[in-house]
Amino acid sequence: DIHSGDEIEELADVFNKMMYKTHDYIEGQERFVSDVSHELRTPLAVLDGHVNLLLRWGKDDPEQLKESLEASRQEIQKMSSMIQDMLDITRLKQSDEFKTEETVVVDSVTDLIHNMEMIHQSCHFDFEVKLDDPQAKAQIYQNHYIQALTILIDNAIKYSGEGESFVKVILSEDDKHIITSVADRGMGICEEDQAHVFERFFRADKARNREIGGTGLGLSIIANIAHMYHGSVSVKSELGKGSVFTLVIPKAELK
Ligand code: ADP
Repeated sequence: DIHSGDEIEELADVFNKMMYKTHDYIEGQERFVSDVSHELRTPLAVLDGHVNLLLRWGKDDPEQLKESLEASRQEIQKMSSMIQDMLDITRLKQSDEFKTEETVVVDSVTDLIHNMEMIHQSCHFDFEVKLDDPQAKAQIYQNHYIQALTILIDNAIKYSGEGESFVKVILSEDDKHIITSVADRGMGICEEDQAHVFERFFRADKARNREIGGTGLGLSIIANIAHMYHGSVSVKSELGKGSVFTLVIPKAELK
């Protein structure tokens, strides 16, 4: 009868949705593994080249020995931070239990900036709070909020070039969200690249970035965090002038 027909349709619908989800998940995993293998291949090839060179004759030339060892160490460090970033991403995907956690944002940002000032002595920090309630809470596990902000502030400094840098953090809100902006006066990102910076392993202006260490994973970690908490992250930037990254996270449920 009509009733059971409805039920079958409903079941089929649920089943289809599940299959789509599973399919997306497997496809995501496959892409992840293939991206990662591809990215690890380059530093491995460089490392392999230097080791072969050393084995053949390089070890007898003190100059070459030093250069190859230094280059090898750099490649090892690159792979090591890549693996760390990938572990972070994997852990995020498994950390469902954090979704109910809350964070007092003003306190977290204050502490973080305090720590950052210690580490980055040539950076000037500015912090502006535009919140009605200084105790306002975002629906996010504090470690994840700090991790996202740390990446944004590190980038702001890293892509400001040598010498002094200026970073401004602004906390604001709308009805339902806490909005955290991190602004810098660094090199900026051209419009074409802005669309890609949140993708895994994407690095803008490769030639210039070669000098600046990084894995191209930081912003994709933030995108994962934002997604996990039903928030969002975006960028506004002008080449040569600076960038503003904005993280939007739902306010904690008012109880
Ligand atoms: P990484 O910094 O390790 O390269 P990210 O995912 O954090 O990786 O950033 C991706 C790319 O976006 C960077 O390589 C850089 O080109 C660009 N980018 C990120 N933050 C900034 C910033 N504050 N100013 C200019 N460019 C940035």
